[in-house]
Amino acid sequence: MPAYKRILLKLSGEALMGDDAYGINRATIVRMVREIQDVTRLGCEVAVVIGGGNIFRGVAGGAVGMDRATADYMGMLATVMNALALADTMRQEGMTARVMSAIAIEQVVEPYVRPKALQYLEEGKAVIFAAGTGNPFFTTDTAAALRGAEIGAEIVLKATKVDGVYTADPRTDRSATRYSTISFDEAIARNLQVLDATAFALCRDQNLPIRVFSIFKAGALERVVMGEDEGTLVHV
Ligand code: UDP
Repeated sequence: MPAYKRILLKLSGEALMGDDAYGINRATIVRMVREIQDVTRLGCEVAVVIGGGNIFRGVAGGAVGMDRATADYMGMLATVMNALALADTMRQEGMTARVMSAIAIEQVVEPYVRPKALQYLEEGKAVIFAAGTGNPFFTTDTAAALRGAEIGAEIVLKATKVDGVYTADPRTDRSATRYSTISFDEAIARNLQVLDATAFALCRDQNLPIRVFSIFKAGALERVVMGEDEGTLVHV
């Protein structure tokens, strides 16, 4: 039995990139989808918020000199491309998926309508939330916290390259150790970057736990959904 009936999975754009410098790596996206498919087969309802950093980031190189809001809209559109790729890969792998966008682009994807999203989830379809929150100056982390709270997900699963929250950056500090669990307050006190500040505050206020884990470890998502000690659980 899965530990959760409904999860909100935050996949960064990077998670689709594999070892490529940008864009979507075919083998990687197929692998991601299979990991997601495994947990839907367990009976867990899955909603995904997809990032866009593999294509465009509003505060990065390509955006230098641009109006921030305009650059952020480009970033949100990048998440729509990732969402379409993810949904199509899901379809190829035999899953049923729906993309819902926070920005109206009705010829391409349906708009986000909460009751519709809830209906799809109840029907066992994977729902992919595109275009973040629909607002500039936010991130897809915040969209994950927001949608997670809205759909009544029991947990936000933040899939990263690093397999949890560490005392220091494990890539540069060999003495760094991974927290198995940590409270929101301690994460703040220790200045640990779990989600961006807005997303973090929203999860804390809504008593929505976050688990940070590595999507690149085979079977990690399934272990998380089965309630095993994988990555780091951030709780109230
Ligand atoms: N973005 C935004 N509002 C949102 C979500 C995303 O403006 O609600 C823009 C922002 O420019 C961001 C980009 O879209 O840099 C891609 O999202 P994010 O950086 O969160 O993607 P990830 O790092 O997860 O791939």
